[in-house]
Amino acid sequence: MTNEPRILVWNEFRHERENPAVAAHYGEGIHTVLAAALTEAGYASVGTATLDEPEHGLAEARLAETDVLLWWGHRHHDAVSDAVATRVVERVQRGMGLIVLHSGHYSKVFKRLMGTPCSLNWRADGERERVWVVKPEHPIAAGLGRYFEIAQEEMYGEVFEIPEPDELVFLSWFEGGEVFRSGCCYTRGRGRIFYFQPGHETFPTYHDAHVRRVIANAVGWARPDAIADPFANVRRDPLSPLASGAA
Ligand code: ZN
Repeated sequence: MTNEPRILVWNEFRHERENPAVAAHYGEGIHTVLAAALTEAGYASVGTATLDEPEHGLAEARLAETDVLLWWGHRHHDAVSDAVATRVVERVQRGMGLIVLHSGHYSKVFKRLMGTPCSLNWRADGERERVWVVKPEHPIAAGLGRYFEIAQEEMYGEVFEIPEPDELVFLSWFEGGEVFRSGCCYTRGRGRIFYFQPGHETFPTYHDAHVRRVIANAVGWARPDAIADPFANVRRDPLSPLASGAA
């Protein structure tokens, strides 16, 4: 692996083609806006893939040259084949970084990696969100203040049925009074996973400088040192018989 993480932004890319209110913010697709944000942040290797490509753009060879995968999906989680979901999960377990955005909380890959329902409460009325930085020393919070605000977002509320995060970086408050663990870090196997809540498709969230900063920081945090099957060349049989010769 070179020093430059190979980033792949995956997007369902259907809302943008079906709903003018979404196309108004993401005419070329959410993936294109996210990829531009990462390029702007200085990453040189940024590609995109979408649901309706063959193998959802996640063929074995493509995934084999991906160090960090971003995931935005919403209405068509079930359209992702089990084979591709398994492929992604296994790659994460071997070290690939995964950044799951917004409604990706219900994706096959996130639910499998978490092992919990990943359900939550929501209200898409475009209320103000205040994203509190609760772990300011974390690399994903680099360059942020105590909090930042998003003028209009979909409310996601607790209880969020996830495993206890290894590290909680953001806790959001919404105008309607709900709170939500909006920035959660995990490791699964050798892979690092970051869940980040903002990003409802009818709001211009991924054009927001703070949000773009967080996502760029998250790529830096999630990038692996190496991706490998830790057991590929390891003897799995016992080294020697028990000296005592147990019955
Ligand atoms: Zn949403």
